[in-house]
Amino acid sequence: MVLEIEAMYAETRAETGLAAMSPRVRAAMAKVERHRLIPAAQLGLAYRNHPLPIGQGQTVSQPYIVAISTDLIAPQPQHAVLEIGTGSGYQAAVLAEIVQRVYSMEIIESLALTAKKNLAELQYRNIDIKVGDGYQGWPEKAPFDGIIVTAAAPRVPQALVEQLRPGGRMVIPVGAAGGSQELLLITKGADGRVQQKSVLAVRFVPLVPGK
Ligand code: SAH
Repeated sequence: MVLEIEAMYAETRAETGLAAMSPRVRAAMAKVERHRLIPAAQLGLAYRNHPLPIGQGQTVSQPYIVAISTDLIAPQPQHAVLEIGTGSGYQAAVLAEIVQRVYSMEIIESLALTAKKNLAELQYRNIDIKVGDGYQGWPEKAPFDGIIVTAAAPRVPQALVEQLRPGGRMVIPVGAAGGSQELLLITKGADGRVQQKSVLAVRFVPLVPGK
């Protein structure tokens, strides 16, 4: 799987500016046991570079997308990172291998509970999962050094931009649900100025609006 991801990095180099996985991300991708975070019915496909269904109409992203999203936020060991859309917990586990603290929000309670249980069995102790609406972010734990949104939003939620630390980076798929979306990289300068650039054409499940 790591080799397939490397090949995709090479193919998408012109768009992403990343020629290869960083050593940190490669080590995390090689280590996280994806088969222990997905439904039993999908076991045989755990290490293919494909998205997989995880129940409730949701999917765990393609490993390449997890890797490149992680690389795009330039994670450092001392970082605190917010993920929106816990799903299976796979992206959270990859982040937890690299950064100090991972905060992850999931709107579907049953998915949050399953992810929490599986991540505890895998001995991850630096991941906090909260059931709630990711559009609002997690203000009590802000600011974050990085934010990864793993479902497509019609536009960039302002609350998330506010919760990004100056110098921080956010990756978010933006565009119409069901259609094609753009993976945006949003950077907040040390002076607080926000810039965004489109990195890749992607297709994610939609971020559902909270009630
Ligand atoms: N990162 C996940 C993939 C998740 S798919 C993984 O590694 O497996 C997107 C997830 O976002 C789904 O689980 C979906 O329920 C969740 N989601 C959708 N809308 C949301 C919202 N408004 N707030 C938080 N989570 C949301």
